Amino acid sequence: MIDLRSDTVTRPSAGMLAAMTSAPVGDDVYGEDPTVTELEETVAGLLGHEAGLFTVSGSLANILGVRALSAPGTEVLCEASAHIARAELGAHAAVSGITTRTWSAPAGQIDLAQIRALISADLGPYFVRTAAVSVENTHNFGGGSIQRSYDVLADELDAIGLPLHLDGARLWNASVASGVPVSAYASRAAAASVCLSKGLGAPVGSVLVGSTELIREARVWRKRLGAGWRQAGVLAAAGLYALQHNVDRLAEDHANARLIAEILADAAPGSVKPDQVDTNIVVADLAATGKSVPEVVEAARTEGILVGGVGPTQLRLVTHLDVSTSGCRRAGEVVAGLLR
Ligand SMILES: *Cc1c(COP(=O)(O)O)cnc(C)c1O
Repeated sequence: MIDLRSDTVTRPSAGMLAAMTSAPVGDDVYGEDPTVTELEETVAGLLGHEAGLFTVSGSLANILGVRALSAPGTEVLCEASAHIARAELGAHAAVSGITTRTWSAPAGQIDLAQIRALISADLGPYFVRTAAVSVENTHNFGGGSIQRSYDVLADELDAIGLPLHLDGARLWNASVASGVPVSAYASRAAAASVCLSKGLGAPVGSVLVGSTELIREARVWRKRLGAGWRQAGVLAAAGLYALQHNVDRLAEDHANARLIAEILADAAPGSVKPDQVDTNIVVADLAATGKSVPEVVEAARTEGILVGGVGPTQLRLVTHLDVSTSGCRRAGEVVAGLLR
């Protein structure tokens, strides 16, 4: 099977497993796991922040990051297909008492005019106050797109004193593709999360970064939510290994995604624009092909290719370190055959 449903399906390599089994560990709730501490300090340093917190998932890192910037009864603004709005099962409302209002833009991009219009100052007892703006970079359901207006938005939010939350699950991809260091993105945000378990290939884990104070509070909330952990250094070691070995190679995943997009665009013109595939995610729109998403997903499966549906007419293929260029070419050709 060639599995392009997500970049979360990777399995730890032999080198990564060796790093995990030889990691020094301790009780992280006591702050005594040296490998966890090393990972948190390493990622905070890379992202230009004072402190980091290792979490079991990106969703948890986002729940802790958003709640650190907001309070019950306030709102966070984000794009309508953002992971925090669509894929965290209402956690920000259910767990933290925070509502979202959204803007909609092609490829999940920042839309400055819409954001300016949405921002609601503190109007006392009349309207919900906007506490933060959250931006996803790269944008997952937007097709792995890199945010074009990130710095402009960050400047505007700075000017009015509104914090930026960065969902950087795939910030590594944005950085490798754009050449902009991860710190240049993340340091603009008051809280930022990055995933180790997507394209970086670790089996588990994300890191939330922010100020020492913000992370101290997030650590309390992580424990309160039952997600403190003990000898988590075995998992942190996988993250450290991934940071050393699997960041630069993301460029291969990006080239493979472009290759798939070109094959699909040839077979079904207009379904995808290859020059808009910024990183490792290809979202193809089947609307003009007359094929349904479930039909194509099922037919691809019988030919050994796993792909996912992310909308009524949208098919998603995500490249990653466990699928080679020839595997991606084969997957592209099989799906192209089904769309033709
Ligand atoms: C995957 C992902 C997350 C976190 O997902 P988990 O499955 O909870 O680790 C957060 N944001 C985005 C944009 C993602 O793609």
